[in-house]
Amino acid sequence: MEPLIIHREDHPISRKDIDPDTVRVLYKLKDAGFEAYLVGGAVRDLLLGRRPKDFDLATSARPNDLRRLFRNSRIVGRRFRIVHVFFGSKNVEVATLRSMVEPSGSSDLYIDDDNQWGDLESDSFRRDFTVNALYYDIRDFAVIDYTGGVKDLHDHLIRCIGDPRVRLQEDPVRMLRAVKFAARFGYTIEPETDAAMRALPAEILKASRFRVTEEVFRILLQPNRDVGLRLLNEYGLLRQIYPEWLDAIGEDGFAQVLDFFAAAERAAADDRYYPIEVLATGLFIPLLDSVDLEVDHFHRVAARVTSEIASLSRAMDLPRRLTAAAVDMLRGQLYMLFFHHRPKRVKRYVSYPGFDLVWRVHELAFGHLEELRDIQEIWLEAREQLRRPIGGVVDAPDKRDIFSFRGKTGGGRHSGQGGRGRPHERGDDKDGEEEWIPFVDEDEAGA
Ligand code: ATP
Ligand code: MG
Repeated sequence: MEPLIIHREDHPISRKDIDPDTVRVLYKLKDAGFEAYLVGGAVRDLLLGRRPKDFDLATSARPNDLRRLFRNSRIVGRRFRIVHVFFGSKNVEVATLRSMVEPSGSSDLYIDDDNQWGDLESDSFRRDFTVNALYYDIRDFAVIDYTGGVKDLHDHLIRCIGDPRVRLQEDPVRMLRAVKFAARFGYTIEPETDAAMRALPAEILKASRFRVTEEVFRILLQPNRDVGLRLLNEYGLLRQIYPEWLDAIGEDGFAQVLDFFAAAERAAADDRYYPIEVLATGLFIPLLDSVDLEVDHFHRVAARVTSEIASLSRAMDLPRRLTAAAVDMLRGQLYMLFFHHRPKRVKRYVSYPGFDLVWRVHELAFGHLEELRDIQEIWLEAREQLRRPIGGVVDAPDKRDIFSFRGKTGGGRHSGQGGRGRPHERGDDKDGEEEWIPFVDEDEAGA
């Protein structure tokens, strides 16, 4: 079949916009006589005038050719072999063009071996969405489109390549990816893809928990996170993956969580971003609803909330580090509510290093509540005495790799292998993140 070819003069992508090491790899492949393309999200983002997160390459060179061509490279992945070419601490991912694999077993569409080499056309059709199957050819700088991605980009549509029912069953994580892209760009999920998603939410349970968590958190960390969360719910995906959580928070609680993420979204519009620990805590805010300040005791409520979070987050398979942060920050909310009239405690607590994030959670969850104005004043005034501005917001999105928050690795058939073939390294946290330091109040028990 003939692809749509958009020549250099008819699209905005310039080599200047591409990471220089990536350009170097492209040229080296071309000079060695191989086809070489920039592909996937990078081409999509550049066409939209956005800065790509990463630059993926596709080539006719086989992994062994690549190893020979780039001394600083390594083959990674088994189910889906790709080559990392290293430049210092950074690497460029290069994948050999592939073709679609016929599903192995009987009625089961699930694919677990993905190393059948192919050409550009076949490589296009094995990708997930049309807007993700565009190629930038280093030979003539043209964009090549076999699947209608350019038109869908123009029409703001997320459309499965091929039969959505088949493609979503092959890899159910694609449903989460559809939501991710639709939310991020404010696009519509094309009707046939939409219908298949509405019919197949339970398929998501066949995916690895680990990939699921990754995509859910990508959605919560990206622009339009509130829209993303709402779409996940509308498609019945949350009901499948987090049933215990939905039951525990109820419909009102879900609305509260949406408000929390909408507040984070408004802050992002002002270039104020929260760390992932703060955003994850947003999922548990409704657990505070049942607290009655008149009759409850701090330590009793705190113990209850802690155990509720622990059991929910175990069921949700959240990374332990996020669980610990959520526990500490919800206890912090309780502390602020219970002890605002205890000046010594107030004074001590505002100087505790974890206070900043506790305050940020408070701001997102309860900042709008008139009835808490007086309490908020007390804490803010005490903090102002310290003459140390409250931290916990940054001016760029939290880019830490969420894998490093992983407490345990997911099970499921896909475990250890992403659909795009990126092998998930299973080492321990590798980025030397600080451990979460819980606040311990010696007087707590006596409260
Ligand atoms: P992002 O901007 O979030 O990185 P992306 O489109 O680059 O978006 P990646 O997860 O980096 O997404 O994957 C790179 C490319 O690999 C995609 O654009 C798509 O062509 C292909 N791909 C990724 N995951 C899948 C999948 N599950 N099924 C089919 N193709 C996929
Ligand atoms: Mg990408």
